[in-house]
Amino acid sequence: MRFYKATRFLFPHSFELRLLSICFLAVHVPLIACVTASALTWNWQVDTLLLILAATLVGTAGGVAAIHALLAPLTTATAMLRSIQKGERVDEIPVGGEDLVGRLLRGVTQAANDAADRSEELTIVAEHDSLTKILNRRGFLRAAERALVGDRPAVLALIDLDHFKTINDHLGHAAGDELLHAFAQRMSTVIRQSDICARWGGEEFAVLLPGANLTQAHDAIERLRSSIARHPLPGVGLTFSCGLAMTQGSAELDDTARRADKALYSAKHHGRNRIEHAE
Ligand code: GH3
Ligand code: MG
Ligand code: MG
Repeated sequence: MRFYKATRFLFPHSFELRLLSICFLAVHVPLIACVTASALTWNWQVDTLLLILAATLVGTAGGVAAIHALLAPLTTATAMLRSIQKGERVDEIPVGGEDLVGRLLRGVTQAANDAADRSEELTIVAEHDSLTKILNRRGFLRAAERALVGDRPAVLALIDLDHFKTINDHLGHAAGDELLHAFAQRMSTVIRQSDICARWGGEEFAVLLPGANLTQAHDAIERLRSSIARHPLPGVGLTFSCGLAMTQGSAELDDTARRADKALYSAKHHGRNRIEHAE
């Protein structure tokens, strides 16, 4: 490390150029020795000196090219480290030998992929609800942004379970939790795979139906309502109310959620267990 630091004045921003300049000087030592000896004895054997000069230049060119090629894995390792910083996975793993550079490449690859794994795990945890195992609001909004690129139309459905406080009071909070989990699972099976289901918060859920109009969205939520009516969730005859609102692209999502919430409020107001559309 000391020599490394001491030679930093030579090309402080390029390790490769520093190595090449040291190699250049080392290769010229025999030539310098011969010129010095000839000057001291004033005995100039020009043919020999020219031969050594030519050999030195060929040796320098070969050495510089070989060192440049040998340093390629370090450039690769630097690029891989940049991938780690961006949280990307290293798909193409360069195969090194059993030497120092090979071990460095393997270490960096391992570190890059471990970091990408951890980052993916953290993203999954951050975007899913731990009770129901479906997306949480944050995950929903991220997925909606991806699904609604280019102002794609969609319908947002906000669902609120009816009288859930009373259910909790009668069955207990733990049974209420199980019911929320069972509802989320039923919703995920009944709603199309291409639609996005999430726990909006508490006993409220959201479904985004990309490409659907209000009639199609109404039919999809009605399928969920009749599935729960025909095959009740364990422990209770659960119903829900729902508000539907159209959206155009993800930029409008906040306003769409407000309109869907208003329609949901209206569904509650008109007796619950019903689906209403926003204007
Ligand atoms: P409404 O039909 O008007 O929606 O009546 P509600 O009782 O469902 O509505 P309210 O907002 O008064 O109560 C919501 C209840 O949902 C109260 C709260 O304890 C319950 N709840 C929210 N989150 C959870 C949860 O994670 N687990 C359980 N077991 N209950 C929850
Ligand atoms: Mg509620
Ligand atoms: Mg409720």
